[in-house]
Amino acid sequence: MSDIIRRDPRAERIARNRLHPLHAALQTQQTQWMGPNGLVRKNPHAIAAGFIGPAGLKRIDRSGAQQGGSNKRQSSSAVVQLPLHVVEQPAFVIAVVPDMVGGRLSSHDKDLLGLAHQLAGKDGAVLAVVFGEHKEAAFDTAGVDRLLQLEGDEYSGYSPEQRVLALRAVENQYNPRHWLLPDSRTGGGELGRRLASSLGERPATRVWQVKDGKSTGRAGAGREDIARAAPRLLLAAAECAEPVSETRHEARAVKLSDPVARNLPRIEDLGSVAVDPAQIPMAESEFILSGGNGVKDWALFHRAAVALGATEGASRVAVDDGHMPRGRQVGATGTWVTARVYLAVGISGAIQHLQGIGACDKVVAINLDPGCDMIKRADMAVIGDAAAILQALIERVEAHRQGAKRDAA
Ligand SMILES: Cc1cc2nc3c(=O)[nH]c(=O)nc-3n(C[C@H](O)[C@H](O)[C@H](O)COP(=O)(O)OP(=O)(O)OC[C@H]3O[C@@H](n4cnc5c(N)ncnc54)[C@H](O)[C@@H]3O)c2cc1C
Repeated sequence: MSDIIRRDPRAERIARNRLHPLHAALQTQQTQWMGPNGLVRKNPHAIAAGFIGPAGLKRIDRSGAQQGGSNKRQSSSAVVQLPLHVVEQPAFVIAVVPDMVGGRLSSHDKDLLGLAHQLAGKDGAVLAVVFGEHKEAAFDTAGVDRLLQLEGDEYSGYSPEQRVLALRAVENQYNPRHWLLPDSRTGGGELGRRLASSLGERPATRVWQVKDGKSTGRAGAGREDIARAAPRLLLAAAECAEPVSETRHEARAVKLSDPVARNLPRIEDLGSVAVDPAQIPMAESEFILSGGNGVKDWALFHRAAVALGATEGASRVAVDDGHMPRGRQVGATGTWVTARVYLAVGISGAIQHLQGIGACDKVVAINLDPGCDMIKRADMAVIGDAAAILQALIERVEAHRQGAKRDAA
């Protein structure tokens, strides 16, 4: 028999998808093995040891205490320490300019850092350039080797001209092998194109893959791909690469040797304008309150959306039953959303619905059924009646706003 290892992509997909009916059959019973990079990999689903949590759900003990002979659970503060990847003298630099929406790395930014590491290999370092203040505490596990934070009023708000000046200073100091920016509407798309024109580079846009020195990007209204030799400047789409997950990086702070000149802006930022969340297209909304068959009081649901300042979404059943317009349907046959927070009320989590929320950062579920697939998918869950929880949410938000008004007065 030949030694060639044959892969079965379908079986691999099923093995990764814990909602697939054949998932269990394709799980290896091995609980621990050495991965190709020398890292120990664990399969938490094959671990028999676990305990029943306060909500009656089975919890897996990832601390390893239950598999090591001792039946005592270790404290939840025991954190897995990933191996530290240090690049003392980088041969070259890959520069990434994350969007940092809300001061944190978005999932799009993390995908980009994953791509940057593919391009950096062992000898290169990933340099993240961040404007203004941030709230991010996980640059190290996201894959940042060097962190350049550019602070100052001149970078606050919408300031693309000043930012391009700063990036030109980075170009002069580090001469990055590649520049990577998210091809997003929230910043990177425009900043990247401005930087390209300033550097005289022809960027690759909406890039979803970089392999063997070639970049492939979407074109023709999403119906065509353009493949070309990977240029220096890559404006990448979400999911262009797997985010870094197996290593920790230094995130060593660096500075520009020369101060960045201040330009006389031709654009004046007049500040943010309040918008009606109901008017925001769902695909662009950052915060979605989505209702399903478990919502019985739709007037309350609409009041909750207004109180929370959320854009409304719905499951197909809610739309079919006439509670919400067709344009609000989330899922495989509706809109694929990319919200930072997706709050699912009374939605069971059918696969067609979950497909539509795959790119959401945080999913919060409100449901009566603790075993439903939406609860399994959620980062946070509240088990209870939708109406009671929405009512309590509205009261909390209103009390919070009243308190803020009183403090301001
Ligand atoms: C080809 C095809 C395409 C599809 N495309 C889509 C799509 O794009 N989007 C989509 O959403 N669906 C789609 N569907 C339908 C999908 O399979 C599910 O039927 C649908 O998503 C279920 O909607 P639901 O979760 O709102 O309802 P249900 O499955 O009925 O779930 C209701 C949930 O509410 C909970 N609940 C009940 N009462 C309460 C209460 N008082 N408080 C809190 N929770 C409560 C229940 O526990 C349950 O989990 C598609 C189906 C097909 C066949």
